[in-house]
Amino acid sequence: MYEGVVQDLIEELGQLPGVGPKGAQRIAFFLLSADPADVKRLAAVLVEVTERVKFCRVCFNVAEDDECRICKDARRDPSVCVVEEPKDVAAIEKIREFRGRYHVLGGAISPIDGVGPDDLRIKELMTRLADSSVTEIILATDPNLEGEATATYLARMIKPMGLRVTRPASGLPVGGELEYADEVTLGRAFEGRRLLDV
Ligand SMILES: [Zn+2]
Repeated sequence: MYEGVVQDLIEELGQLPGVGPKGAQRIAFFLLSADPADVKRLAAVLVEVTERVKFCRVCFNVAEDDECRICKDARRDPSVCVVEEPKDVAAIEKIREFRGRYHVLGGAISPIDGVGPDDLRIKELMTRLADSSVTEIILATDPNLEGEATATYLARMIKPMGLRVTRPASGLPVGGELEYADEVTLGRAFEGRRLLDV
């Protein structure tokens, strides 16, 4: 539709989640009319994150080192909270109700989207649980269909290991995503977490 590099920019922006062709055009022309210094700063940050940010080799949260600051913190409790995405770690950390460590799955089981257990970091979770002193697993996947299915799947795998498996209490917006729950609701859900029967 446009020539050369402008079209390249629109196509690249169109790859981003939540940005359709129209949005990509709007952002492209915003960038073209913006102060070049601002755009260069954005470009520099994009390069910097690709070079500097890694994923923690233990929990797969974003990290600037081989291990994230939470995994490195010796004062953390011997419990593991399983979440779908790094943004969920940020949401739970904000409420200060949970003092254990995390495991980021990288999504949820969703046959419709072609996501099976092997596409998530479940094997890594099992390995982690097999040789550590973890006492409780909190399955804090999203309170929607995929998140519930993933929690049930994991509970069935983990329970035979003799660990306490819990899920945050109901009260979270059903069908929604964890990160959209307000802090009070999320805090209560963690406080009132219940044992999972599978
Ligand atoms: Zn970590």
